[in-house]
Amino acid sequence: MTSPHPTPATQPLLGATEIRRLAEEIGVRPTKTLGQNFVIDGNTIRRIVAAAGVDPSETVLEVGPGLGSLTLGLLDVAARVVAVEIDPVLAAKLPDTIAAFRPLLTGNIDVVLSDAMRITELPAEPTALVANLPYNVAVPVVLHLLEHFPSLRHGLVMVQDEVADRMVAGPGSKTYGVPSVKGAWYSQMRKAGVIGTNVFWPAPKINSGLVAFTRREPPVTQASREQVFAVIDAAFAQRRKTLRAALAGWAGGAAEAEVFLRQAGIDPTARGEVIDVAAYARIAEAKLMATA
Ligand code: SAM
Repeated sequence: MTSPHPTPATQPLLGATEIRRLAEEIGVRPTKTLGQNFVIDGNTIRRIVAAAGVDPSETVLEVGPGLGSLTLGLLDVAARVVAVEIDPVLAAKLPDTIAAFRPLLTGNIDVVLSDAMRITELPAEPTALVANLPYNVAVPVVLHLLEHFPSLRHGLVMVQDEVADRMVAGPGSKTYGVPSVKGAWYSQMRKAGVIGTNVFWPAPKINSGLVAFTRREPPVTQASREQVFAVIDAAFAQRRKTLRAALAGWAGGAAEAEVFLRQAGIDPTARGEVIDVAAYARIAEAKLMATA
C-alpha cells in the first residue's frame, strides 16, 4: 500500500477530453448493453466521493470502473480500491490510466475482470461499495453484493433516478416495491442527490440518482432470507391484489394465506405495498411454524 494520499481536490480527474482520448486509444465505443455511460466531469466525481463518506482506512469495491473516472477519485480517499469490470478491454486499460494519473497509487488497486453479479470472492475484503452502476443490472448487483460480502458496511451508488426512488421508498409509497423491501432487509437506504444527464458521455436520456446505504441487521426471524424473499416476490408479482389473494399460490391456498397473515398480525385484505420487511419476515415465519 502506498501512502500518503495526495490532497484530493488538487488531483487531476478525467474530463471530456481525457475520456474521449482514452476511449479512442483502445477503440471503445460505449455500449448500451453494458450500461456504458462514462462520467466526464470532475466536480460530479468529487460530489460522489464526498457523499460516499469513505474513511482513509477503507477498502472500496467499485463495480464498473469503465475508463477510471470514479476510480481516480476513490483512490484519493481510500486505502484500497477493488475494481470489478466485465469489459476486458476497459479492465486491461485501467492500470495504465492509474499509472498515468496517479503514479504514486498504483499499488492501491486490484482490477478484477468479472461479472459483478457472479463474484463471490475478492482479493481484499471491501467495507464500502461506491459505484456508478450499469443501469440495467443495478438492483440485482447491489443485492448480490450485500448478500455475498457481509464486510460491506455502507455505500453510495449512482443508478437511474427512478430506480433510486424505488430503492429508498418506504411502505405506502407508490414507488415501494421489491427493490425497496429486499434492500431494507440488508440496509437503510436514502436518496443522496440527483445528477443531470450532461455529465456523462454518452449522455443518458434520464437523470441519475444517488443512493446511500448503511448496513443493518435483518429482522429477527426463524425464516431464512430465501424464505422471506419468496413472500416478497409473491406479494409484488400481483401488487394490485390483497395479500390473501396474492399469497395464495405461495401459501397453498387463499385460506392458508389468510391464516399465516393473521398469525403475523397483518390484515389479509391489505396489499403488499403497505407492509415493511419485518412484516414479510413474520409472514414467512408463520408458514414455517405451521409446517414445522
Ligand atoms: N465508473 C465509470 C464512470 O463513472 O465513468 C463507468 C460507469 S458505466 C455507467 C458502467 C460500467 O460498468 C461500464 O464500465 C461497464 O462496462 C461495466 N459493467 C457493466 N455490466 C457489468 C457487470 N455485470 N459487472 C461488472 N461491470 C459491469
